[in-house]
Amino acid sequence: MADAPSEPSLAIRNPRTGLVDHDMPVFSADQVAAVASQLRRQQVAWAASGAAARAASLLRFADAIVAVRSELIDAIAQDTGRYAESVMEVDGTVGAIKRWAVDATALLRAAPASHVARASSMPHISVEQHARPFALVGIISPWNFPLLLSLIDAYPALMAGCAVMVKPSEVTPRFVPVLERALNAVPELTQVLQIVTGAGATGGALVASVDLICFTGSVATGRKVAVQAAQAFIGAHLELGGKDAAVVCASADIARTARSICWASMVNAGQSCMSLERAYVEQSIFEPFVAALVKEVAALKHCWPDIRVGQIGPVISVAQAQIIERHLVDAVAKGAKVLTGGQIKVLGGGLWCEPTVLTHTTADMAIVAEETFAPILPVMAFEGEAQAIELANSTEFGLSACVFSGDIEQAKRIASQLEVGAVSINDASLTALVHDAAKQSFKSSGLGGSRMGAASLQRFYRQQAYLVSNGTDSPWWFRRS
Ligand code: NAD
Repeated sequence: MADAPSEPSLAIRNPRTGLVDHDMPVFSADQVAAVASQLRRQQVAWAASGAAARAASLLRFADAIVAVRSELIDAIAQDTGRYAESVMEVDGTVGAIKRWAVDATALLRAAPASHVARASSMPHISVEQHARPFALVGIISPWNFPLLLSLIDAYPALMAGCAVMVKPSEVTPRFVPVLERALNAVPELTQVLQIVTGAGATGGALVASVDLICFTGSVATGRKVAVQAAQAFIGAHLELGGKDAAVVCASADIARTARSICWASMVNAGQSCMSLERAYVEQSIFEPFVAALVKEVAALKHCWPDIRVGQIGPVISVAQAQIIERHLVDAVAKGAKVLTGGQIKVLGGGLWCEPTVLTHTTADMAIVAEETFAPILPVMAFEGEAQAIELANSTEFGLSACVFSGDIEQAKRIASQLEVGAVSINDASLTALVHDAAKQSFKSSGLGGSRMGAASLQRFYRQQAYLVSNGTDSPWWFRRS
C-alpha cells in the first residue's frame, strides 16, 4: 500500500456523539499522482495474469475481510452510527466479491471467441477484436454506504484487468485502516488496489490521474467531476442523487404496500440514493393508505441509546441535516401537514431525524422537488394513470421508482412511461436486493453504463481491432496509369 501521509489530516465527527474523535490523513495531488503511476506500472502484470488468477485473489480478499469482520462492522458503525446496516454492508461486500469472482470469470471465459480471426466485408482482410482494459480506474464514493460504495465498481474493474484507486468520503473514513489490513493479507491485490483519503481536492487529483472515473455522490459534485472528466477526455460513469417516487394504484393491497413503502422510505434513515422520497396514491384509497402508512412509520424507533435496538439511525452528515431542516421548514411554511414525526432531535450529541409522513405537499416544495435523503415521506393523491405518470416524472431525477397495482399489466404500462433506470413492481427499492439487471440512470441521476448486471464488466474495456491483410493489394491504392 502507499504510505498514508502523516500530515495534514482532517478531523472527523462521530454521528452518534457529535464529537470530533478521528483523524483522517489527507493525500495531496502529488501523492495521488505518485500512487497512480505506481498502480499503472503494476497493472500490466495484473492484466496479463488471467481471469482465474484475478478471481482467486479476489476470493482471498473476501476471506481476509471475513477475518476482520467484527472490527470492520465496528468501524462502519462508528462512521455511520448504525449497527444492523453495518453488518449488512460488510456481509454484502463479501457476497459481492464472491459473486463477481465467479460471474466475471464465466463472462471472460466466453470472451476469447472474439479474438479469433474472422472474415470481414473485404475478402482479403480478416479482423480480430480485442477488449483492452483501462489501465487505471478511479472510484470516488459518498458517505451513506462507505464500504459498499467504495468497492462496488472495483470488483468488475479488477476482474477486467484494471488497477483501481479509491477515494472514499471524508465524512466516513474510519473503515479504511481496517479494510487496508484485509487488503494487505493479499499482497498481489495491494499492487493494483489502493485507497487515498481526503476531501474534494483529493477527489479532483484522483480524476486528474486516472483513465476512467466511477463516481457515486450528489448531482452537484457529479457535475464538477463530469466537467473535469470531459476536459481530460476520460470516460465518466456517474451514479448520482435520486427522488424516487412510488405510484400506488387503487387495486394495490393497502396493508402490504404500506409496509413496503415504510421500509423503502425509512431504512438507513432514508440515506440511500434509491430511498423512496415521494408517494403518489390513487385518490380513492388515499385516506386508508395514509392511515396504514402512518401506523407503520409511527412504530419505528431511533437506535438510541442502544445502537442495536430500533430501526432508525442518526443523520450521518451535518451538512445533510441542514438540508433536511430547510426542507421541513419550507414544507410546513407552504402548508404541509405533519402526520407523524417532523423534527430533527438531538440525542447524545447526534442529530436524529424523526420518521416523518407529510400530506398536503405540493410540487413547489423543496421536500417534493429536491433530494432530502431523510426518513421523510410526502404522500400526495392522483386521479388516473396519466396524472400519476406526470407527477412521478416531475423532478429532475431519474434513478428508480416503484409501482403497486393488483393489475400487473397496469403496473408495467405505468413503468414503461416512467423516466427512471429501474422500476420495482409490487415492492419498493428492489435494486438494493437484486444486482443482476442492467440499469442506467435517467436525467440528472447519472450518466454512463450500468453498474449492475453483466453489462457492468464492459464499462472497463476499450475495444481494439486488428485488421489483417492477406497480402493482396488494396483496391483503394493509387493507380498509376
Ligand atoms: P458528495 O457529492 O458531496 O461527495 C461524494 C464524493 O465526492 C466524496 O468522496 C467527496 O469527497 C468527493 N468530492 C467532493 N468534491 C469533489 C470534487 N470537486 N472532485 C472530485 N470529488 C469530489 O456526495 P455525498 O453527500 O457524500 O453523498 C450523498 C449523495 O450520493 C446523494 O446525493 C446520494 O443520492 C448519492 N448517492 C448515489 C448513489 C447511486 O448509486 N446513484 C448511491 C449512493 C449515494
